[in-house]
Amino acid sequence: MQTKLVKVSEAKLETDPEQGKAIEKAGQILREGGLVAFPTETVYGLGGDALNKESSRKIYAAKGRPSDNPLIVHIAKLEALYPIVRELPEEALRLAEAFWPGPLTMILKKSALVPKETTGGLDTVAVRMPGDAVARAMIEAGGGYVAAPSANTSGKPSPTQAKYVAEDMDGKIDIILDGGAVCIGLESTIVDLTEEIPMILRPGYITKDMLEKVLGEVEVDQTILSADSGVKPKAPGMKYRHYAPKGELTIVSGAAEKVVEMINRLSGEQTKKGEKVGVIATEETRKQYHAPIIKCVGKRTDEDAIARSLYTILREFDDEDVTAIYSESFEGSEMGQAIMNRLLKAAGHHVIQAEEQIK
Ligand code: AMP
Ligand code: MG
Repeated sequence: MQTKLVKVSEAKLETDPEQGKAIEKAGQILREGGLVAFPTETVYGLGGDALNKESSRKIYAAKGRPSDNPLIVHIAKLEALYPIVRELPEEALRLAEAFWPGPLTMILKKSALVPKETTGGLDTVAVRMPGDAVARAMIEAGGGYVAAPSANTSGKPSPTQAKYVAEDMDGKIDIILDGGAVCIGLESTIVDLTEEIPMILRPGYITKDMLEKVLGEVEVDQTILSADSGVKPKAPGMKYRHYAPKGELTIVSGAAEKVVEMINRLSGEQTKKGEKVGVIATEETRKQYHAPIIKCVGKRTDEDAIARSLYTILREFDDEDVTAIYSESFEGSEMGQAIMNRLLKAAGHHVIQAEEQIK
């Protein structure tokens, strides 16, 4: 299959007739059961008609994704929510009012309209209305319901630019809409509304604090930051190793100066052994490292910037054939947790403590 790459732009959506044509073409492909990669504000999505089980099967095949890992259904307007859910709690409407369109996914009880192929066999459905206007126009053109996981090969870092989508999906899908670099860079927050107390299953840009302002009490799935593989996460996809670069990633945690010291020591040792070493540094520490490849993920205080560049940096290490990667750790605030959650998965939970090793 020849994969077409077409440029799209939110800014020109209303004025440029070429944009209209590109969206119409993508919509037609979706309605005919084909696959379209498209930009959203979080990461690039790999879309198919969510109500067509054959399209969902194609998505799993193109990504090499385990079939028990459900897809998120993307909609473009609130009215589209009603037919796909069996119950609509009042909380869902309040969240939609506060955060849609935007980077929030809600888990609700599904109606018979949504095939089990789309929901990984579950009786619930994940729904989101993306903030990107190109994405919403495409969803409308495609029939209103687009199942879309991130547009990467399963296990790899989610794509933040069209070129990374092409790296994984070229020849496997019909078209890639190239809208440039994404804005947020980490996947949506997932909140489960099927339980008595709403629960965050995946942290993201919409934080617990923000959800609690709208809902009152909100719980967090305890598997989000834990390495205990004996406990099953409530979002099936969160149990898989994810976001992983080709090189072996190790997170070093502890006081900043100890972390720098330890990463420098390890990177020296690994370089001597013939490994190509890369370091994920922050603006505050970047000049203190001696490794051959140092990538700055942003200022520690600017977590939005860190989120935006994390996956891009992991992909760049792949491009440069880096074999051993050391990263500082990101604890603390809620966005910090979303970042750490992705880093931990990328590292297969390989974390070492700087202080302990140096004694
Ligand atoms: P991705 O599409 O790559 O962003 O991954 C979607 C995430 O949403 C995965 O971690 C899924 O396990 C999770 N998810 C999707 N649908 C459901 C659902 N019905 N219940 C719980 N988690 C879900
Ligand atoms: Mg994904």
